[in-house]
Amino acid sequence: MGRIFIPDEESFPGTADAVVIGGGIVGVATAFWLSRAGLDTVVVEMRDGLSTLTTPESIESFRAQFTEPAMSELAQESIEVFESFADMIRIPGYDIDIHHQGYLFVTDDAAMIGDVRGAVEKHHELGVTDSEFLTGHEARVRFPYLSETVVAGTFRQKDGWLSTHEATQGLAKGCDAKFLVRTEATDILQDEQGVCGVTTDRGTIATRTVVNAAGPFAGKIGEMVGLDLPLEPVRRQRVFLSQQSRVPEDAPLTIDIVRDAYWRPETDGAYIAWVDPGEPVDDDPSEDPYSDPQFAAIVLERLRHITPFWEDVALDLKRSDVHPSAGYYVYTPDDQPLIGPTPEVPGFTLNCGYWAGVMLSPAAGRRVADLVTGEMDPQDNILRPTRYAEGIVLEGDSFLRGH
Ligand SMILES: Cc1cc2nc3c(=O)[nH]c(=O)nc-3n(C[C@H](O)[C@H](O)[C@H](O)COP(=O)(O)OP(=O)(O)OC[C@H]3O[C@@H](n4cnc5c(N)ncnc54)[C@H](O)[C@@H]3O)c2cc1C
Repeated sequence: MGRIFIPDEESFPGTADAVVIGGGIVGVATAFWLSRAGLDTVVVEMRDGLSTLTTPESIESFRAQFTEPAMSELAQESIEVFESFADMIRIPGYDIDIHHQGYLFVTDDAAMIGDVRGAVEKHHELGVTDSEFLTGHEARVRFPYLSETVVAGTFRQKDGWLSTHEATQGLAKGCDAKFLVRTEATDILQDEQGVCGVTTDRGTIATRTVVNAAGPFAGKIGEMVGLDLPLEPVRRQRVFLSQQSRVPEDAPLTIDIVRDAYWRPETDGAYIAWVDPGEPVDDDPSEDPYSDPQFAAIVLERLRHITPFWEDVALDLKRSDVHPSAGYYVYTPDDQPLIGPTPEVPGFTLNCGYWAGVMLSPAAGRRVADLVTGEMDPQDNILRPTRYAEGIVLEGDSFLRGH
């Protein structure tokens, strides 16, 4: 069973087969598979616990509805892990609180109907055959709270959400890695063969394999080995609205693809959010990003178009029921993560560049382990960090980016 602890002089590991920098869900999933592959694996996490930075600020949702082949592959494989989680971590009865309440993307712009239909065709081509195209009428029959103006949507019932806390803790418990908390990686050492150690504020761990899973700080970790990684952290906010009896408890995650706003039910209330296209890149991300006091009002104004009940919610809203917070999406030039070794620095491997890291983490972690152990040929991994230099152009997405 994995051990999560604050190391002292005695318990600090001086060596490891692999060191993962970052104990968010991506780093923990990576450690899980590395450890399962038989590597003596250490995770260093600078904060007080695992998954305490970006991961808990997410709305914890997952979907198989992707139109990009590489994202679809990772998402489908990850969902399989989530759906057989207790077996996968070998802890009978372990529950990550999966809600298969679906993902519903809707539009009230008739010009988008072709794109929406095309997206569903693409899902089917990529093996996700249970996503559905809905006309406005069909969508309203199924989800009566939708506005009369909705003209089309895509829906998949088996998409949904889960507890990232339970998933992270389960992955940690289900392997033999050591998770050092309150331990910050301050430098990465190299010799003529490549990486040879990670310096932390508690001591140095000698290793030949370092995985960068530092979320919004992955760019800073890259700088430690002289790499300028193509990563763009962008602040993303969400609001939890407590005590909202108007929110249908059985609703799916509902996304307005015209206004980039979305909501889903959560414990007697809802998460609401907006992917603001004007939010600037933040090259100096903070552990405590600012959340805008007006954000809830801005999101509610956007949401009322496709789900008019939000107008009534807004009118009755009490300040004490508004709980804003913020984290980061980390974009790459093609909006798809960087996974795999960097040939410039032997032994240095990436698992970063996520705006959907929760839902992709199990498969991405497994891929890193397969690449590190030689189980996977780097050429079979289309998400390899060298793809831009190689001139590979990955298929982009139409309207689903960022939800
Ligand atoms: C509002 C919002 C909603 C979202 N909704 C979803 C969603 O529904 N579904 C989804 O899949 N994704 C969602 N995301 C994105 C998702 O949260 C992230 O992609 C995911 O959490 C990234 O996980 P991570 O482990 O890479 O990063 P993090 O959780 O940030 O973990 C990185 C860790 O690295 C540690 N670290 C950094 N530098 C160092 C160092 N030098 N030494 C030691 N430790 C270090 C940090 O402390 C941190 O704990 C959302 C994000 C936001 C902000």
